[in-house]
Amino acid sequence: MRAAQAAELVTDEEWAATPGELALDVGASEDGDPSCLARRVRGRVRILWERREPDTMRTSGALLQAMRDQALPSRLAKIDYIGVGRGACDNAMAEEPGRVVPLQVSEKSTVLQCRACKHEWDVTAIPTDKCPKCGCAETLSPFRSLGDQLWWEARGMFERSEVDIDPADEELAAELLTLTWAPNLKGQTVVEYAKGPSPNRADALMIALAREAAARGSLAPKDWSGYGLKSAVTW
Ligand SMILES: [Zn+2]
Repeated sequence: MRAAQAAELVTDEEWAATPGELALDVGASEDGDPSCLARRVRGRVRILWERREPDTMRTSGALLQAMRDQALPSRLAKIDYIGVGRGACDNAMAEEPGRVVPLQVSEKSTVLQCRACKHEWDVTAIPTDKCPKCGCAETLSPFRSLGDQLWWEARGMFERSEVDIDPADEELAAELLTLTWAPNLKGQTVVEYAKGPSPNRADALMIALAREAAARGSLAPKDWSGYGLKSAVTW
């Protein structure tokens, strides 16, 4: 993955003035795994902090402070809603209603493919689990899970030079280099890290780049009616 040209259009002034999106990866601190907070304004993503904090409620408090920081304003915060992240997320949702989006990367991908005609669509844009082209109800996601899909989308953004990460952030660059892509037995794309230290910075980056609709969709994977546009336009 290479850093960008297009995304560098986000100047320092815009970075400071534009309400951004925060992304929190909550680490399992008992294992010494830090939590990591990233901030995104369009294609520009920076890690704000990484902290080893055994009490995830303190991590949640630190997130709330970041959400209220007038020097770096933010529109919303996305948090991984699995395991240790759950309590921190619930707390932040209660304190900042509507501005905290739990993201369940282990949930189903929002992209479906028709088994019959192979048409692909994203249920956050076209909320139906039947093929909008041929009406077939037999579908399969091209991705094992939402997390795999979001990484794939992030990869596309890097390839189109839409992402600007800190060129001095060697840790993040090293974590990204360990990502691998492979099909599983169903032919779905699976994205994995090589064995090693938990890639908190890369996870925070992925959450930061995740589309808000996909993150919100992960909350209600069986009911798409409340998400996206009811549009017949294909994706
Ligand atoms: Zn079809």
